[in-house]
Amino acid sequence: MQQTIQYIRTELEGIYPESEILGFTKLLFDQVLGFSYTQMILAKTRMLEQEDVKKIKTIVSRLKNHEPIQYILGATEFYGLQLELEPGVLIPRPETEELVQWVCQTQLPKQARVLDIGTGSGCIALAIKNEIPDAEVWAVDKSEKAMELAAKNAKTNNLQLHFKQTDILNWQEEHWPQFDVVLSNPPYVRESEKAQMQANVLEHEPELALFVSDNDPLLFYRTIAQFAKDHLKNGGLLFFEINESFGEEMVNLVKSLGFSSVELRRDLENKNRMLRCRK
Ligand code: GLN
Repeated sequence: MQQTIQYIRTELEGIYPESEILGFTKLLFDQVLGFSYTQMILAKTRMLEQEDVKKIKTIVSRLKNHEPIQYILGATEFYGLQLELEPGVLIPRPETEELVQWVCQTQLPKQARVLDIGTGSGCIALAIKNEIPDAEVWAVDKSEKAMELAAKNAKTNNLQLHFKQTDILNWQEEHWPQFDVVLSNPPYVRESEKAQMQANVLEHEPELALFVSDNDPLLFYRTIAQFAKDHLKNGGLLFFEINESFGEEMVNLVKSLGFSSVELRRDLENKNRMLRCRK
């Protein structure tokens, strides 16, 4: 066991920071061997089965290739839910859990009808349904792959959602009910920001879910806010996850469309990351 822990460290040293390597080690032992961190430490001197060592070696070589651990394991945890994951669908981020937390801390009408736009793995919609069982939660995405995965995740977590595969940029072509809450974590990374991004994101995660053109970085926000003006009930709430560089622009955008009680929130990294406003 000790030998395998050392092997993981030596192979990944220099590619990932120390803290991340420790995180990978814990995850690998947990997912491949079913060992908790404590068990791993207590059984340090135990010999591992050849087959398990082989599995770990394969995963380590994929990690060296910057493949995200969540795609390798095909799973991740989000707001207490176990979600399946696959390439082509965005990996849920911790800052998005903070957005979910904000929604859950907000007073909503009983049986609120909630819409998550660009749901990806379904993480936001499923977490909200799990926390607020009385809510009627809708999840939409342009990507067929995402819709299929979100539906699968709903099933394995025993949660009921309403799904609709659609491109929100064409929302006027469809019929929609009125919602109490509209929320979205749309693509917000500008093409020009690619230079500062990590290989694991750039080489493995879906561009469709991440990037917007530098010429119109707020395209999705403007469109979704316009949609929300039409399809939120009076007093309904709009929540966004945002690019930290556009806090002020985002506040102005929703104000110019007539939304009130506009509030920006910072994430754990102290970056402007979320916005809430009321119709
Ligand atoms: N927070 C994500 C990232 O930086 C971006 C998510 C998004 O574009 N909606 O990788």
